[in-house]
Amino acid sequence: MVATPIGNLGDISHRAIQTLTSVDLIACEDTRHTKKLCRHLNITTPLVSYFREREQEKATTLLKLLSAGKQIALVSDAGTPAICDPGAVLVNRARAAGIEIVAIAGPSALAAALSISGLMQANFFFGGFLPANANARKQLLKNVASLPCALVFYETPHRLTASLADMIAMLGDRQAQLFRELTKIHEECLEGPLSVLHEHTRAGVKGELVLLVHGAAPQLPEQPENLDDLLRWYRDEQQASLKQTVARIAADLDLPRSQVYKKALAIWQEIAP
Ligand code: SAM
Repeated sequence: MVATPIGNLGDISHRAIQTLTSVDLIACEDTRHTKKLCRHLNITTPLVSYFREREQEKATTLLKLLSAGKQIALVSDAGTPAICDPGAVLVNRARAAGIEIVAIAGPSALAAALSISGLMQANFFFGGFLPANANARKQLLKNVASLPCALVFYETPHRLTASLADMIAMLGDRQAQLFRELTKIHEECLEGPLSVLHEHTRAGVKGELVLLVHGAAPQLPEQPENLDDLLRWYRDEQQASLKQTVARIAADLDLPRSQVYKKALAIWQEIAP
């Protein structure tokens, strides 16, 4: 599985060139597209098409060749194969047949966007492309609305406005980043609330897009309003010590420690043996 550039041809790896040069066959989405890459790299390995619409059938042909000992590189039009691109069918079937599969790692729009997002959390949700159908799209957004991590989607210019409008409706007007034309001459990042991105792009946008939306704000546990209940809540629900509870409440509510301590003592005495 050979990753190829997502725009900038300089991003091709040394190992990708070596692999594409040495295999018996390169399976690719669009032979015309990959032919250009090969010409640029002086690679003359024969090409064979492998695309989504006939992935099962194409995989059967490639599996026969692999079983006969041929070495095949699979590439997609851009980036890492099998990430929102064909490839998984062949990998699954090859794995089941005991054929060795090797990742020749390299560019992916997802990794490129995340790497320059400044996201501090390690976790994120990757949704690939949102469904084209409006109801299915809204349902998916509803399902992920409460996730406390960033939501990352691949987008297309013609669907962006509809997606942004649905996001505002289903997620609220959260902060977001729209990465356009990563690794290319006109690379840019538009940043701000979803409504601002919607406004800026409603007249039309060109190029390839990755959209990153901030996750839901972490839910604070519901805290009781009255001080006695709040003390009991820290004692029973948070398993906090008397000292921790007093410090926390005094700081949070800006109350004198001595006053909170006196109340806390009475509450802790309720459970004293
Ligand atoms: N397999 C590819 C990868 O590893 O990123 C993704 C293939 S998917 C069919 C194509 C989508 O990836 C585009 O519609 C866009 O959302 C995103 N993409 C690809 N290249 C990009 C780029 N240079 N800048 C921004 N997004 C890009």
